[in-house]
Amino acid sequence: KRRSRLSLEEYKSGVLSGDRVGLSRAITLVESTLDSDNELAAKLIDQVYQYTGNSFRIGITGVPGVGKSTFIEAFGRHIIDSDKKLAVLTVDPSSQKTGGSILGDKTRMEKLSRSSQAFIRPSPSGDALGGVAQKTRETMLLCEAAGYDYILIETVGVGQSETAVKNMVDFFLLLMLAGAGDELQGIKKGIMEMADAIAINKADGDNVKNANRAKSEYENALHLFPANENGWLPKVKTCSALNDDGLPSILDLLTEFNIQQNESGYFDQNRKEQAIHWMHQTIHYYLKQNFYKSPEIIEKLAKFEDLVRKGNKHSVQAARTLLNHYFK
Ligand code: GDP
Repeated sequence: KRRSRLSLEEYKSGVLSGDRVGLSRAITLVESTLDSDNELAAKLIDQVYQYTGNSFRIGITGVPGVGKSTFIEAFGRHIIDSDKKLAVLTVDPSSQKTGGSILGDKTRMEKLSRSSQAFIRPSPSGDALGGVAQKTRETMLLCEAAGYDYILIETVGVGQSETAVKNMVDFFLLLMLAGAGDELQGIKKGIMEMADAIAINKADGDNVKNANRAKSEYENALHLFPANENGWLPKVKTCSALNDDGLPSILDLLTEFNIQQNESGYFDQNRKEQAIHWMHQTIHYYLKQNFYKSPEIIEKLAKFEDLVRKGNKHSVQAARTLLNHYFK
């Protein structure tokens, strides 16, 4: 894929001007796995960092089919109608291995993407070293520098990427369906525990009664979890993304959370803890990338895999020998 090279200044002004093309180019730079691009991307983040941090960061998860994309399309409209700018990013771990994706491509949220106040960017793909969440976080910073007020980060709800998203957002929303049973929905208890709110979607037509019943059930279930130290009690709402029903009430809930957490100081405290988390994640990511890109390791890796396969070395021995070569 050929790409014209811009200077640091050009990338920077592209982001800060709020122009979507400039932002897109900067994100492509951040997503690159080339060392030279990584270096420029790091400089770019440094240069725009003072303009970041001013958005409300929201994570949205739920199993495929629950209605995430329909929800974001309709919910995003309410955000835009309140005269705010919205960026929608995705973390899709399925794109890491196959280059394909559970969340689908750019054709989702078509209406929203036509608004000049919205910016939609699908998950980076093809980074076999697990950099998808890392890159999404950096992308979020660029969107903030470009003046986006709300960042929605969507993920697939199958358990791999929720923790990463939880660790980069202020508010975590779980979409669920009534009457499908937690197991059937593939939602693990751990994911429910992360939620600041659960929205039971498809509360329309014959399903309204079930949705209301599910609401009380989830409310009861949430009460069994230990209280959050931030003093926020997770809320349950019903909605119909399809009919655009119940969405303003969810937006109000987000606002209530924002105000309460800012007043108590937990909003900033959470951001600070997340910053430390991301320092460590960044170290892990670049260590791993550097290790696997090292010519010496590339040369030895296949041989060591073979030794382990044949039983001539055990895994720990092989790993330690390679690490010793790398760190010597
Ligand atoms: P995603 O895989 O979670 O992004 O789900 P989609 O947004 O693609 O929705 C999956 C299907 O559910 C689509 O056929 C939607 O039209 C439908 N759907 C989404 N939200 C609702 C809703 O609130 N009510 C009903 N009845 N159907 C919905």
